[in-house]
Amino acid sequence: MSRLPQSNPAEEIRNYYSALSRAWGAQHWWPAETQFEVIVGAYLTQNTAWTNVERALANLRRANLLSVEGIRAVRLPRLQRLIRPSGYFRQKAKRLKMFVAFLDDRYEGSLPEMFSQPTEKLREELLGLNGIGPETADSILLYAGNHPVFVVDAYTRRILDRHGIAPAKTDYEQIRQLFQISLEPIATEQERWPAEVREPLEAGIRGAAHPPSAMSTAHRTALVQVYNEMHGLIVGVGKNYCRKSKPSCEDCPLQRFLPAK
Ligand code: SF4
Repeated sequence: MSRLPQSNPAEEIRNYYSALSRAWGAQHWWPAETQFEVIVGAYLTQNTAWTNVERALANLRRANLLSVEGIRAVRLPRLQRLIRPSGYFRQKAKRLKMFVAFLDDRYEGSLPEMFSQPTEKLREELLGLNGIGPETADSILLYAGNHPVFVVDAYTRRILDRHGIAPAKTDYEQIRQLFQISLEPIATEQERWPAEVREPLEAGIRGAAHPPSAMSTAHRTALVQVYNEMHGLIVGVGKNYCRKSKPSCEDCPLQRFLPAK
């Protein structure tokens, strides 16, 4: 059943989080064993499906090159061949090399050193790199570095637009801030819970859930965990229900929040 548009977007977004996490459980993002694997995945996933990224990552893993040292040492033509399944492979290979050059130059090749920087400083630095827009920068910060930033993607925009919360063309930063402010009280509430209640939800099997991985189960603050989950849940809505054409509203867990036409 549809209803009138919500006058409190922050409350609406918290309601989405509750409805989706109850329906689908933990989404276990990002499916990776190391921080560097998340970073490579964040580059490779641009303009392609995750299944293609998995093939490229598998090639790198098989060649024992899925590491800072590996990407530093491999020759560009070979790197291009290995990541070819992810598309735009020449451009992506060059950008991966540039990321490692940046890491070497600023942080002596150390990811822990890079991720120990203040969030806004590092965000600015990442945004200054060729091929890193806000979505990729925030994916790296959140999923590789456990920094408290929310990742806004096309699915987020589409859902907000269709639910009358914000037009799809709304500025990235405005949407990011809206989600961050909206979700903060959930994290504050969770921090008060006793440890046994705070245990992660059962690993989900629906939405855009992945099997638990070293990165998905890494220690992180409640705030980072909430941002982590919410982006994964939104991808689940976008992939399974809120498609560009012909959305399946009747089966979607957010159907009851859909405003009346
Ligand atoms: S598919 Fe779900 S999220 Fe998309 S418009 Fe319909 S109810 Fe909303």
